[in-house]
Amino acid sequence: LEPKEEFSHKTLAMDVMRPRHSDPPLSVITQDGMSVEEIETLIADTSYSGFPVVVSQESQRLVGFVLRRDLIISIENARQRQEGVVSTSRIFFTEYTPPQPPNFPPPLKLRGIMDLSPFTVTDHTAMDIVVDIFRKLGLRQCLVTHNGRLLGIITKKDILKHMAQIANRDPDSILFN
Ligand code: ADP
Repeated sequence: LEPKEEFSHKTLAMDVMRPRHSDPPLSVITQDGMSVEEIETLIADTSYSGFPVVVSQESQRLVGFVLRRDLIISIENARQRQEGVVSTSRIFFTEYTPPQPPNFPPPLKLRGIMDLSPFTVTDHTAMDIVVDIFRKLGLRQCLVTHNGRLLGIITKKDILKHMAQIANRDPDSILFN
């Protein structure tokens, strides 16, 4: 990543994060109760490298982050090897899995593939600090929250694109900063 001087001090995490106002909402996974089929559809319909896991759609409270490739491998393995895992099986990222009602297929427990402490910043964090953290911790992505609610995501590429945009739009501001 380029030197932090390229950011004016006013650029905040909320200016760089996705989704933008006009974008579809963040694609998240809820920690209990999504079916294998629902998650396979999410994977097929999007190309994101990963998905935040939240307590519920209503709360948007962050639980962890799961990589797309780990989800794909785990679901494939479970379908092949784990007795009884089918499209309607429910997926759990929780510590404890509630007993499934009679006649329900066995659940699939995926807490093990989740990053339990993904890096987060608030929407008001200055981007020069975010860039520092990306560099020092070698992050690929970082989640953005407001009052504990998940708002968005910033990837390394988002930062690079934003820097390029600033450079194109207003070259003078870079000289003066
Ligand atoms: P990259 O930015 O390296 O291409 P991704 O493919 O994961 O990485 O993300 C592509 C774009 O989608 C980025 O702008 C990123 O901020 C956004 N994004 C990443 N994950 C999600 C998600 N789960 N829901 C919505 N947008 C996402």
